[in-house]
Amino acid sequence: MSDAAAGSQARTLDGKAVAQSIRDEVARGVVELRERTGVAPGLTVVLVGQNPASQVYVRNKEKAAAEVGMRSEVVRLPTNVSEGDLLARIDSLNADPQVHGILVQLPLPGGIDEHRVIEWLDPAKDVDGFHPVNVGRLSIGLPGLAPCTPAGIIELLRRYDIPLRGRHAVVVGRSNIVGKPMAQMLLREHCTVTICHSRTQDLDAVCALADVLVVAAGKAGLIGGRAIRPGAVVVDVGMHSLTEESEVRRIFGDDPRRLKTLLDKGSALAGDVVQVEARERAAWLTPVPGGVGPLTIALLLRNALDAARTALR
Ligand code: NAD
Repeated sequence: MSDAAAGSQARTLDGKAVAQSIRDEVARGVVELRERTGVAPGLTVVLVGQNPASQVYVRNKEKAAAEVGMRSEVVRLPTNVSEGDLLARIDSLNADPQVHGILVQLPLPGGIDEHRVIEWLDPAKDVDGFHPVNVGRLSIGLPGLAPCTPAGIIELLRRYDIPLRGRHAVVVGRSNIVGKPMAQMLLREHCTVTICHSRTQDLDAVCALADVLVVAAGKAGLIGGRAIRPGAVVVDVGMHSLTEESEVRRIFGDDPRRLKTLLDKGSALAGDVVQVEARERAAWLTPVPGGVGPLTIALLLRNALDAARTALR
């Protein structure tokens, strides 16, 4: 993390490999729990409506849970389900001793109050870590279920021995699912934390102060080389499907692999960071894809295992 890294190419923080190690650890944890208690962790995903992206996410979560030996179940409810019926369904999942983790796939259809639904979950089963009780526990440093994406990022940095204590971390984005909990977790790791958002003035200058820069703004290629201090650690949380060749070239340069993906599939994945510029300045960088994305599901599985362990204690 020194200026000596300037001029050389950033090293890759391989989220995919770390996610695989976590999934292997969870699978061993599931075997151990089953041998000790006779019970496998149970994860239930509630999917309301037909949102195509949500359907893909839910399928991936169901498959991942099954792969580590958990009992996974998807409760599918129609788009026009009433809030009352959804809450009643959550009541029965809260009361079901076979269900250790519950995840309500977001976004919910209009007319349903997401906050109310999340608050309805038993906090001990809230594997997304979005319930106000878990948010509060994180903020005052008590153990609890923490949001999967930022928890995955901390795990990634830890496994690469990236020093955090005393470092200046800048988080771009203040959403409840990524930015805010990320800032809390970096604070817990003894970073000095700055949070940027859509009203921040001179974003590039603030980001350029970061030893550790986590970008979760949801804007493709928002952060270019000017915003990266030479030798910084850069984590790119953004996830976008690009269809324009000019955009792919702006973010990845003339990388033939990306251009081929665009040609073959009609789109290429990119994040919030101009990867071709970040590679020249950062010491460490997460790729997109293969960076933060795989960690999110791995940490969801770990939360489900932790919830089951606590319930079966
Ligand atoms: P969000 O839209 O809820 O929040 C975005 C945040 O970025 C807001 O706080 C906003 O103030 C800030 N922002 C927006 N434009 C900005 C700008 N120009 N300058 C500075 N700040 C700006 O998004 P989110 O749910 O936090 O997700 C962020 C991104 O991360 C998205 O691309 C999303 O797809 C991706 N994501 C990826 C994963 C994963 O597992 N890889 C998980 C969650 C989110």
